[in-house]
Amino acid sequence: MKLHDTPSTENLPTYRTPPISGNQINGLGIKEKNRPKRVFHALWRTDFPWAGMNAFFIMNNPWELLWEALKYRWNMRRSTGPVARQRVEVNAPNEMAQQLKEKAKEFGTGIVGITEIMPEDLYDDVELNYRYAICIGVPMRREEMLHVPHARAGQEVQRCYGEVGGVAIELAEYIRSIGWPAYAYGDPRSTDILQIPLAIRAGLGQLGKHGSIICKEYGSNVRLSTVATNIPLALDKPIDIGVDDLCIGCRRCTMDCPPNAITDKKQWVRGEYRWYVDFDKCVPYFTATYGCAICIEVCPWSEPDRGTKLSQMLLVKRNKNGSSPDRVGSLTYRV
Ligand code: SF4
Ligand code: SF4
Repeated sequence: MKLHDTPSTENLPTYRTPPISGNQINGLGIKEKNRPKRVFHALWRTDFPWAGMNAFFIMNNPWELLWEALKYRWNMRRSTGPVARQRVEVNAPNEMAQQLKEKAKEFGTGIVGITEIMPEDLYDDVELNYRYAICIGVPMRREEMLHVPHARAGQEVQRCYGEVGGVAIELAEYIRSIGWPAYAYGDPRSTDILQIPLAIRAGLGQLGKHGSIICKEYGSNVRLSTVATNIPLALDKPIDIGVDDLCIGCRRCTMDCPPNAITDKKQWVRGEYRWYVDFDKCVPYFTATYGCAICIEVCPWSEPDRGTKLSQMLLVKRNKNGSSPDRVGSLTYRV
């Protein structure tokens, strides 16, 4: 993908008195496992250090983009609801997992996987009584996303959140209709959970150097939602499609990120050694450019129909060379 008309990094929103570093809040450099703290993307809340920047991000959006966000928010009122009294008993969790995946596809998902929810997936102010996460991914329209980092691409991101959130709502409603509790989580602003690590463990993809998930099917040109539930389900496993093999040598996102927020080395973040994007450098540019997304669109994996062949090529090359990349921390994510 060729970038054109990229706004400069001058005149970005700043604080007169900067809050505590987002990198510190995210646990950069911390080798012990910890639960994440809220740092950005927490709708309706003001009790976190970067709330001002978050409010500016919302207010800075043009009307078309806000309209998509409002439609989405209205639909998400159906995240939860009454559970049918008559419960369908589950004797074979693998069959139920298959059934729900087929339902998710019927409702419009592109990719779906299941994992268990761990304490590290939840913000430190959240208690959640759900055991399983059904992770859902839907691609964005590439022709719209080629307009990053402008409002047109931001509007497509919001539209896609509406679509992927809609799948989660319908799936959660279906699970409740067969007598099991379920809650639909949509975009990062509505959520108690970290969607990317769950989706990685559920086998949807791997973490890229740009801090986002990379799927074989859509590259990083994808948005996620999650259904949290207690219906007994068989779990999926993380996958290895060769993301690290390419990221170790590729510098496309590093070079194209205007504020130089992407680094070529993995780092310790809350007990995991992994790719990490500098929050303090990324977020002002992200805020000024309607969610930026340059890094996920320039990534070679995001070229349509490229991922499967790219994965095969990388894995064949790895086997031939008899070497494996530094995969420590490949089950990791951006916060
Ligand atoms: S652009 Fe290159 S380095 Fe960046 S995430 Fe994609 S493959 Fe990895
Ligand atoms: S989203 Fe952040 S990390 Fe990605 S290119 Fe934009 S500023 Fe850089």
